Amino acid sequence: MRKLTIDLNNVAHNLDTMRKLVNSSGKQVKVMGVVKADAYGHGMLQVARKIEAEGVDYIGVADLAEAQTLRAAGIKTPILAWLHDPQDDFASAIKHEIDVAVSSQEQLLRVKKAATLAGTPAQIHIKVDTGLSRNGVTIDELEDLLIETKAAVADGLVQTVGIFSHLSSTGVKEDLAQIERFELALAMAAKLGVEFELRHLTASDGTLSYPQAHYDMIRAGIALYGLSPFSDNRAAEFGLKPVMTAEATVVQTKRVQAGEGVSYGYLYRTPKETTLALVPVGYAEGLPRNASGKAEVCINNKFYKILSRIAMDQFVVDVGDASVSPGDRVVIFGDCGPSADDLASAADTINYEIVTRIGSRFNREFIG
Ligand SMILES: *Cc1c(COP(=O)(O)O)cnc(C)c1O
Repeated sequence: MRKLTIDLNNVAHNLDTMRKLVNSSGKQVKVMGVVKADAYGHGMLQVARKIEAEGVDYIGVADLAEAQTLRAAGIKTPILAWLHDPQDDFASAIKHEIDVAVSSQEQLLRVKKAATLAGTPAQIHIKVDTGLSRNGVTIDELEDLLIETKAAVADGLVQTVGIFSHLSSTGVKEDLAQIERFELALAMAAKLGVEFELRHLTASDGTLSYPQAHYDMIRAGIALYGLSPFSDNRAAEFGLKPVMTAEATVVQTKRVQAGEGVSYGYLYRTPKETTLALVPVGYAEGLPRNASGKAEVCINNKFYKILSRIAMDQFVVDVGDASVSPGDRVVIFGDCGPSADDLASAADTINYEIVTRIGSRFNREFIG
């Protein structure tokens, strides 16, 4: 009734595309594949297994629970988790060889305790806030954190694998100011004699925009899923291929007279005698309710606007006099239908939100 097709071969293609892009000038830049939030709705374990098989250098997740799930499933690739609760169990993370981001003195203290408990040094990446004002240590507090970190290295409690930051993507001027601050942070670390193997700053958007800021590794999330991080560029311009297709089957069709009200609130009334097709996908599936009247779907290679209100489980399309029958395929987004970008703009949001909020009632089918 509802199907989500995840083309893992396209994940491999997108990984390869990003790899070639960052290594085009003979540099040796590593690629982290970001699989947080169930791989942006695509299936975390399946995507992680695919990119591990493709030799991805690192896997990135937001929190330790996600990292632990990957380790429990047998993922061996280095993993970095960067968003921690004050109660998170760093000792268990260390035992499972999960790299942790350190954003404050308090976190460093907890990591040191955990390393003592685990009997193994923690692998850390210092997270610097260069201007996003989310997690990360501010430039003002960085020096103290680096001094403490250096002492912890000398005590055999931590290994400084990386130093990283994240851009706000506000505009070129703002991003360049952040790159400058990141340079400042690197210079401060160098001066204090704290060494990092991996300096990393850019996610998909920064990677595509600022070749000068690739450093030792880039973190690719949305690009891995074949979607553009920009609202005014299509993914195809970068050689990326969409991974997710959301589709359903028409479950009922009916002939109705002119003037019939359709779905809640009668946003739409039939202008003439016509055929209505019922599709079993609603906002519970992640089809945004505020895309009512704007989003389009594709049935038998023809595009139709969803003119009536999207309900929890279903929506209705006026297909006119087209021959549409129960069982016909409806593409909500992906392959021959509209793109996740089209649906995002219809719902006044970004493609990230469309794919990550895709509902659990879709049957997932993996290709590759
Ligand atoms: C989510 C995230 C990424 C990936 O971002 P994309 O825009 O999807 O490439 C990279 N780094 C951090 C810190 C993130 O939180």
